[in-house]
Amino acid sequence: MTQKVPQKFLAYDLGGTKVAVGVVTSKGKVLEEHREPVVIQQGKTAVIAQLAALGKRLLEEHPEIRAVGMASAGPLDPATGELLDPTNFASPKGHWGRTPIARLLGAKLRRKVHLENDAAAAILAEHWVGAAKGCDNAMILTLGTGLGTGIISNGELLRAGRGLHPEAGHLILREGDASAPCGCGNLGCAEAYLSGRNFSRRARVAFGKSDLSAKDLAELARKRDPRAVAAFDEYALLMATAIHNYAVIYAPELVVFTGSFAAASDLFLKATREHLKKMLARRRVGVDLLPKLVVSKLDNQAGLIGGAFVALRASK
Ligand SMILES: [Zn+2]
Repeated sequence: MTQKVPQKFLAYDLGGTKVAVGVVTSKGKVLEEHREPVVIQQGKTAVIAQLAALGKRLLEEHPEIRAVGMASAGPLDPATGELLDPTNFASPKGHWGRTPIARLLGAKLRRKVHLENDAAAAILAEHWVGAAKGCDNAMILTLGTGLGTGIISNGELLRAGRGLHPEAGHLILREGDASAPCGCGNLGCAEAYLSGRNFSRRARVAFGKSDLSAKDLAELARKRDPRAVAAFDEYALLMATAIHNYAVIYAPELVVFTGSFAAASDLFLKATREHLKKMLARRRVGVDLLPKLVVSKLDNQAGLIGGAFVALRASK
């Protein structure tokens, strides 16, 4: 009996600093991938040309590929395939404005391109082949430059009103906290404390040192440096506060951590769990709202896998 050969998809994961492109099967396996810095400083025409050149190279090797999925930093409209002036893509060449990237790239690749928010793509990937497989109520927190959030609720990707992506990273934890300016312009957003970049920025202020990276701080905390330990303790409490708020609204059974700062999860996950247990103590009777907290095992491939999933789903 012949086994059905899995289909292949071209997938992109586009961020403000790096782009990944790869070939992913209909089983969610990444066959090959390539990462490079994105030429964001050269403006959008150059970036789209870069994406097209990367994709064409892989399509020459895999001409049977018919559809393309792209996970991208937002805001964006997955229904129309447009980027809606992504904040992190602005450069000296100007803002992107409303950019129909799916159509522009699709014309160059001669394939249909499907667009999705990167955090949405990441939770779709986890639900498909990762930590949230078989779990129909799950949330992902991507801890990197920002705090991305994606939610599967009752088996479906959850969108906010007007087709928007739920920007739960901008839920305000401490309004008016001048120590926590957020990229969105507000003070005290969850992202202003919990993204890897903002955690290190605040810790550098506490240390009075300008050259500490998130990695340095994690090493210091592992050596039990009291200030680094205190920084991670505060982080765990704020993380638990954010997850408490997400739990009462979205009721995830599982929260998956991913992104570069998830590598420091040994320094905050245990304490986060303890704080969360206390905060949700009264919400564990009847329906237990305490979610399981786990670290993703998809490394940094969730965006690519999620992009492929979106293309697969659309081509069915
Ligand atoms: Zn914010």
